[in-house]
Amino acid sequence: MSSEPAWETGRCLCGAVVYRIRGPLRPAHACHCGQCRRQSGHFVVATMALPEDFEVIEARGLKWHASSEWARRGFCGECGSAMFWTDDSEISIAVGSLDDQSAVKVLRHIFYDEKPAFYDVADGLPKFAQYEEPMDDGG
Ligand SMILES: [Zn+2]
Ligand SMILES: [Zn+2]
Repeated sequence: MSSEPAWETGRCLCGAVVYRIRGPLRPAHACHCGQCRRQSGHFVVATMALPEDFEVIEARGLKWHASSEWARRGFCGECGSAMFWTDDSEISIAVGSLDDQSAVKVLRHIFYDEKPAFYDVADGLPKFAQYEEPMDDGG
């Protein structure tokens, strides 16, 4: 195959942040950590990409919040969409912002022990108390 790999596109609610990821999409995880829940309103399903496979096309609304000493979270400063997390070695992208979510496959739940008691997930996927490497096993 000599054709360019397909790019997946995504955007925030208002369109002031638009991005693309070089496909194919990597498997996603569902993160139940306190930061994801606080920033998004609930748990976050996110895929991952290497920086060279990720491009911001429209950055007009893009703002970054330093959420720890090693990581920052990207969101739209105009409409408030929570979209990215990065430690600069890779970037995590909330799949809810993808234009086409039909290829999303969720691999596991992480930081499951941090979730509050009011919800449970019964999808049969592995649940980890903390982060779990690697993200890419099985594809
Ligand atoms: Zn926006
Ligand atoms: Zn999280």
